[in-house]
Amino acid sequence: MTNSTVELESKPCPLGCSPADEKVLTGYDRINDLPGEFDVVRCGNCGLLRTNPRPTPASIGFYYPDDYSPYLDTRVMSGSGSGGLKRWIKSLLDTKAQTIPKLQPGEMLEVGCASGNYLDKMASKGWQVKGIEFSPQAAASAREAGYQVYTGSLESIELESSELDLITGWMVLEHLHDPLNGVKKLHDWAKPGAYLVLSVPNAGSLEFKLFLSRWYALHLPNHLYHFTPKTLTKLLRQAGWQVESIQHQRVLSSLFSSLGYLLQERGWHRLERWVVGRPSDKVRLYQLLYPFAWLAALFGQTGRMTVWAKKPD
Ligand SMILES: [Zn+2]
Repeated sequence: MTNSTVELESKPCPLGCSPADEKVLTGYDRINDLPGEFDVVRCGNCGLLRTNPRPTPASIGFYYPDDYSPYLDTRVMSGSGSGGLKRWIKSLLDTKAQTIPKLQPGEMLEVGCASGNYLDKMASKGWQVKGIEFSPQAAASAREAGYQVYTGSLESIELESSELDLITGWMVLEHLHDPLNGVKKLHDWAKPGAYLVLSVPNAGSLEFKLFLSRWYALHLPNHLYHFTPKTLTKLLRQAGWQVESIQHQRVLSSLFSSLGYLLQERGWHRLERWVVGRPSDKVRLYQLLYPFAWLAALFGQTGRMTVWAKKPD
């Protein structure tokens, strides 16, 4: 495979460290099977992992085809009301995927709002919502549902004097070319006392150490940064955010998908199909394995984490 079709750039550690990179792994796009090989390097000073060289802001669109799977299941659904018992079971099995601090509804912004499913959920709780979305199709879909959505990257968008109480970004920070300026910008748009809630894959987890280039959440080359609790905290602090907590999500899905990649490479396709399974089988499997996910999360070893950071009063 070659990178001849897509323009790449090499960038230093965004936290301003002097150059001291060590190569950690080489991988490729396993989600869409698009061409190119990419290295992940670790900054020898701060430990931040990044994809380098990487596609440029102008060329990265090549790796976001219209059927890019993370966009597909975020459309606004209507009539998803569930009964009391169902809701109680759901709360027991909460994966902590989108937990936010207890706040009075105010103004919120979602970075990477896709087709607006979460905007819809928050609007129904009384929040005044708006979003930023890179994909024009997804952004159009969210606007059709009635929401104010800016199309473009966080880096390219300027909001006029904003007074945000809450900013969320679910699995988006790792996609940004300049995450430090990104979270600085969000800091400018936030009110004193406002919260920034971000979820990212956890490259400090056992999953990463076990699977490396086969780790499902590595997602090369779309993920330009691969954070650990320590490097995520460092980045947010440099932008003026005060990190209040990091929660580890109770999910083993990336563990199973990583195992699927491994079995695929070994040619063990029947076992792979059994492990990765159909989506309907998966839900049952995850419920069954929930106690293990809970335990792994307790020790900070699952593939995803959520950080709550506050803009000091
Ligand atoms: Zn560094």
